[in-house]
Amino acid sequence: MAYQVYFQTLGCKVNSYETAAIAKLLAEEGFEETRSCEDADVYVINTCAVTGEADRKSRQMIRRAKRLAPHAIVVAMGCHTQMCRDEEGADIVVGTDDRPALIPLLKEKMKLLDRADSTEDLDAGTRFFEYGSVNYQENTRAIVKIEDGCNNFCTYCIIPYSRGRVRSRSREAILSEIRDMAGKGYREFVITGIHLCSFEKELGRDSMALGELLEEVASIDGVERIRLGSLEPSCMTPELIGVLKGIPQICPHFHLSLQSGSDTVLKRMNRKYDTDLFRRVAADLRSAFPNVSLTTDMICGFPGETDAEHQESCAFAEEIGFTHIHVFPFSPREGTRAWDMEGKIDGAVKAERTAELRGISDKMESARAEEFPGKKAEVLLERRLEDGTWEGYCREYIRVIVSSDRELQAGSIVEVNIREVRGFSIAGTVASC
Ligand code: SF4
Repeated sequence: MAYQVYFQTLGCKVNSYETAAIAKLLAEEGFEETRSCEDADVYVINTCAVTGEADRKSRQMIRRAKRLAPHAIVVAMGCHTQMCRDEEGADIVVGTDDRPALIPLLKEKMKLLDRADSTEDLDAGTRFFEYGSVNYQENTRAIVKIEDGCNNFCTYCIIPYSRGRVRSRSREAILSEIRDMAGKGYREFVITGIHLCSFEKELGRDSMALGELLEEVASIDGVERIRLGSLEPSCMTPELIGVLKGIPQICPHFHLSLQSGSDTVLKRMNRKYDTDLFRRVAADLRSAFPNVSLTTDMICGFPGETDAEHQESCAFAEEIGFTHIHVFPFSPREGTRAWDMEGKIDGAVKAERTAELRGISDKMESARAEEFPGKKAEVLLERRLEDGTWEGYCREYIRVIVSSDRELQAGSIVEVNIREVRGFSIAGTVASC
């Protein structure tokens, strides 16, 4: 019987991609993925270190793994373990720069435990760790990683230290993965990276390199939707937005990382833009994509954030009119410049500010959903719900509940007449052909 491997993933889309990639490498070695951690021979935790809170959760998951699956070999990998190698509870620890070592280490460990008889090495050591084509068995959306690392050194972020500097994946590898996935029936491709706009930066290219790559992606047969991961506003030049506008498959949904709507806080965060630039980018995207959804991340309670700065931030978020804001209370990460910055914000104040901004996000999200009844939306169907309706996302990345009197299939794209709003979702029926 094949060895069973159980995965737990924390953090961003890049981590989801890397978990799927490791799952594929392990499948090639004869491991089978299991949904139940008790059955696992190997328990992999792909950790995150983006905030102090993510670090805490990563540590907690590693410790819990040994309790939940006492006989499993516990593997801790990812950003958190890149910075912290002596994780209690893990049998094997790899970071982000030595992931190729995972399979040989695992085989060695299994051999020691008398669970396997092979210790052949894998070929490793490329500039960008190349996993080859990754399979997503259950999803209709494929995540494709094009770049790793970041050179920006925002004062709150550990990523440039944990993942290192920008390394781009080769265009051939990216396009070949997408061709392969499109051939398997995937219709939507989420292009992701740690700092997407830095694609080919190490080759001296600017953000137009991303635009050119997307044109190549769009020319592949079967690619019906392209969605972009998190983007930094400063690289969204009018030229790049012009290229995006010319690609019909680009979804009108952009996640522009704002972090704060106060210029003085942005400076302390060492972000490379101010609110004026962000406003220009939002306006250019709205004019290029008339029904665009803009989503973002924001941090509340960054060191030294005054009430006035917080209010500026809230007002700016409302002015932009986001479809959704992921709001995080600031949690300091050791090793970053913000760790020992003066002006720590009291926990209760942070919680209050976070709740206020989340309230603003909820209001904007409801208002956005209210724009849809009476209109049509193109929905990629993802899964059938218990009541027989379907769930999927429209191009603007709003969850849609779909009813139909004909048979529907996961992975197909249907046009839906939107009739009503349900919470932050919208609902409707498949338009007749
Ligand atoms: S841009 Fe800033 S927040 Fe994003 S990965 Fe780089 S350092 Fe971190």
